[in-house]
Amino acid sequence: MDTLEQLNFDNSFARLPDAFHTRLNPTPLPDPYLVSFNADAAALLDLSAEQAGRPDFVEYFIGNRLLPGSEPLAMLYSGHQFGYYVPQLGDGRAILLGEVKNRAGESWDLQLKGAGQTPYSRNADGRAVLRSSIREYLCSEAMHGLGVPSTRALCIVGSDEEVYRERIETAAVVTRMAPSHVRFGSFQVFYYRKQHEHLAMLADYVIARHFPHLHGLADRHARFFQEVLTRTAQLMAHWQAVGFAHGVMNTDNMSILGLTFDYGPFGFMESYDPAFICNHSDTEGRYAFHQQPNIGLWNVAALAQALTPLIAEQELNDMLNGYHAIYRTHFIMLMRQKLGLVRAQEDDLELVRGLLEMMRVGGLDYSNLFRSLSDFNAGADQRNEALRDQFVDREAFDAWAARYRARLHEEGSSDAERKLRMDSVNPKYVLRNHLAQAAISKAEQRDFSEVDHLLQLLRAPCTERPGMDSYASPAPEGTPHIAVSCSS
Ligand code: AMP
Ligand code: MG
Repeated sequence: MDTLEQLNFDNSFARLPDAFHTRLNPTPLPDPYLVSFNADAAALLDLSAEQAGRPDFVEYFIGNRLLPGSEPLAMLYSGHQFGYYVPQLGDGRAILLGEVKNRAGESWDLQLKGAGQTPYSRNADGRAVLRSSIREYLCSEAMHGLGVPSTRALCIVGSDEEVYRERIETAAVVTRMAPSHVRFGSFQVFYYRKQHEHLAMLADYVIARHFPHLHGLADRHARFFQEVLTRTAQLMAHWQAVGFAHGVMNTDNMSILGLTFDYGPFGFMESYDPAFICNHSDTEGRYAFHQQPNIGLWNVAALAQALTPLIAEQELNDMLNGYHAIYRTHFIMLMRQKLGLVRAQEDDLELVRGLLEMMRVGGLDYSNLFRSLSDFNAGADQRNEALRDQFVDREAFDAWAARYRARLHEEGSSDAERKLRMDSVNPKYVLRNHLAQAAISKAEQRDFSEVDHLLQLLRAPCTERPGMDSYASPAPEGTPHIAVSCSS
């Protein structure tokens, strides 16, 4: 395992022309302190966990000192925000240190989020607060634990420097990791500026690094777009299956690798409501939970538009027409797993929809209902009282249970084996807002134990932990509503 000095940087993005980025160093912050360190993410860099104990560790990961080999820069991009095109965005508060190559041959971007103003900051302060940094850190690791493609996070370093939001908060920097931070908006900016040579260069750069099997093919751009579309459709299916709402699905927050990207006002569904809006600022519900698959397509179509100089329009349209089928196939596959079914049947989607509708009517807790469904007893004379009592309309449940039972019998399902399968995909623990908030409140008092505790718990969200049942419960009655909004 390596020391900080031994990190193997190879900064391909920095080698792209100046039009792609602005080189600049992070802006220092006073008196940094370590909030949390993620040894699993460090292992991806071949970085020894002991390095986190070095007194100068925090200086590097708040941006006061530069890691040898890093070449800090802010990336340029644009994007559609809430449906409207904004010609220039770019990293306004994030600084890409560079790309670390590990011994397995993988390359990981190290990005400091909250590291100060850049030429793309417009009038904002270039900072992130401790609260939102903890939310991003925990949720990205929670998503990874759930098997959902996501950026990762190495550590959070805090400072007592004040940051002005709705109230005065303090600054923090989260170190984000991903194979790439290129997003749909990275392509859009060159399309709208009519810089088509840069557009082609970016496409070929991303293909060479992240889609190497397409490298050099005559139809590589079209095949690349097809893969991005597929990954995005599948990511949307994942979000729907785990009950995750992103909150700000602007095209600048859409990863070209199909990762869950840029955690802000996200939310895990608790009481099941398809129209759930997690972002306090999203008054129209553009990014409501049930809109996400369609918005995924909208965003992919915006990327398609940006790629028209490289790919024939007819071909792009044909691929866009295939989006919903890819989404549906992946969604039903994931939901089948949640129901413990092993064989595919035509009407499986109906079975899922029937259950979701009963959950909606009763406002049942999304994660917990699926978790408890593994106790379903498929015996002919079983009424499954404990499960049944959770539903408002008991007769509807009985009718649904009869269908489910018949379906299980048809595929010769054994209850015990099905329970094991279901308990390995239906999480016991998700990052509920009140859990994150409890960790944040303690951290604001300089007690970081709960951040570390949640990190451990959410890393293996399906593993039952004795004495931890309260972490699997919705917010207790009387917990104040936690409003989360953009860019905190
Ligand atoms: P987001 O909604 O977090 O994806 O941010 C959208 C755009 O605003 C991006 O260009 C960000 O870099 C920029 N931005 C958000 N918050 C800040 C901030 N506090 N300072 C500077 N730029 C910011
Ligand atoms: Mg963003």
